Amino acid sequence: MTTPDLTIDSRVRRLRDALGDRVLFPGDAGFDAARLPWNVVVDQRPFAVVRPETAEDVVDAVRAAVAAGLRVAPQSTGHAAAALADTDVSDVVLLSLAGLRGVTVDPLARTARVLGGSQWNDVIAAAAPHGLTALHGSAGDVSVVGYALSGGISFYGRAHGMAVHSVREVQLVTAGGDLLRASADEHAELFWAVRGGSGAFGVVVSLEIDLLPYADVHAGMMLWDAAHAPAVAHAWASWTAAAPESATTTLRVLHIPPLPDFPPFLSGRSLVVIDGAILETDAVAAELLAPLRALQPEMDTFGRIPAADLVGVHMDPPEPTPSITAHAVLDALPRDAVDHFLAAAGSPALFVAELRHLGGAFARPRPDGGAVSAIEGEYLVDGIAVAPVPEAVGPATAAVQAMVAALGPWHGDALALTFIDGGGVPRAAGFGAAGERLRELKHRYDPAGVFAAAHPV
Ligand SMILES: Cc1cc2nc3c(=O)[nH]c(=O)nc-3n(C[C@H](O)[C@H](O)[C@H](O)COP(=O)(O)OP(=O)(O)OC[C@H]3O[C@@H](n4cnc5c(N)ncnc54)[C@H](O)[C@@H]3O)c2cc1C
Repeated sequence: MTTPDLTIDSRVRRLRDALGDRVLFPGDAGFDAARLPWNVVVDQRPFAVVRPETAEDVVDAVRAAVAAGLRVAPQSTGHAAAALADTDVSDVVLLSLAGLRGVTVDPLARTARVLGGSQWNDVIAAAAPHGLTALHGSAGDVSVVGYALSGGISFYGRAHGMAVHSVREVQLVTAGGDLLRASADEHAELFWAVRGGSGAFGVVVSLEIDLLPYADVHAGMMLWDAAHAPAVAHAWASWTAAAPESATTTLRVLHIPPLPDFPPFLSGRSLVVIDGAILETDAVAAELLAPLRALQPEMDTFGRIPAADLVGVHMDPPEPTPSITAHAVLDALPRDAVDHFLAAAGSPALFVAELRHLGGAFARPRPDGGAVSAIEGEYLVDGIAVAPVPEAVGPATAAVQAMVAALGPWHGDALALTFIDGGGVPRAAGFGAAGERLRELKHRYDPAGVFAAAHPV
């Protein structure tokens, strides 16, 4: 942004005059709580924070920020705060959208209208009474916009594709401070761009998504001691190579810290876990799972569950967590790759070493899809380490990067935008062939670069 003649004081005054006590500055009571993201490892220090509760609040905030020569970063939960941390936010008004939540379901149309800061748990709870669910990911407290407009990898995804396909319409506040509706019929280029370009094109105040017709689903997890990781990981790799698109699963090696937060049978242990969903009858699912069950898991919860419970299967941390992650998309997972994964996954510096099965509908671009409508690749490898104190960030970063680098020979060209967690990772691989057109449209819709997003185009 260029308004160099404005002093800090005059910017503060302009924002205060326009927004009153809806804006918080450093030193104001509540500022530190308001700037805290879900990923508490990130110490984000924006110029100011605004917490809109209505679309009108968002319009006011964007117009006030622009008039004060400042930029705007929409943030719903801060799960991707590490990605936003690649951007200097000292001249940014952080729009923390946690107060803009609400979901209305149209059961006949099988759609949901979702306010801009809503989380997947909100959608799941509103859809379940109608026997419906959605293309949510493994954590229910991730926001719908931040996930779905950057792709969105779900346990329903090998059958139904990326969550971004379910977006029918977006209402967003543009860099000019206008509230627009973008769909296949209105502002179609903006609609294309925002489905991948996400917060780089505006602040989404609501969106309409398609729901899935599942009241229940065959899903769960199998768990073994990590001593069995070689047998389990090789079996899962062969199993996924032949699995139908109705099965979307992950394999993880978990190193659970010896903390009282975890149940005693997990605390302090290293484990190997397979989890996911199989969109088949119970009989077909049981037949499919038989080769994995033959490995005699210590715990096996696969069975028919309410679709609303699928979000609990992956056991993602329910509370804000100081995490460092890295990932790559893999073209293949031959036996050698599994051996490399196992060698790296043994590092006690890791909390999680994960393989997600992609392919199927995840990998098929849609002609009517947005800028990012597929991920070319068969698997995703992901390392997660916890950094509870600043000194732990360096070793945690090294551990996750080593985990991902160990599978270097099998890395594909693509990256999954929702798994890019900053650290300077170039976003081009996440945008793929859409990158150039996205940049052109960014110049058209936001020529002054008002919006600062987790994934700048
Ligand atoms: C525990 C955990 C589990 C996860 N599981 C999965 C998974 O299963 N599958 C998967 O694909 N991903 C997963 N993710 C990644 C997650 O989808 C991304 O981090 C996602 O970007 C988070 O969105 P958010 O809005 O909650 O985060 P935020 O950090 O709040 O937002 C991320 C970015 O989204 C944009 N944005 C958010 N809200 C708005 C808005 N209203 N208007 C405009 N732009 C907006 C902004 O550009 C923002 O910088 C997981 C992450 C974590 C930490």
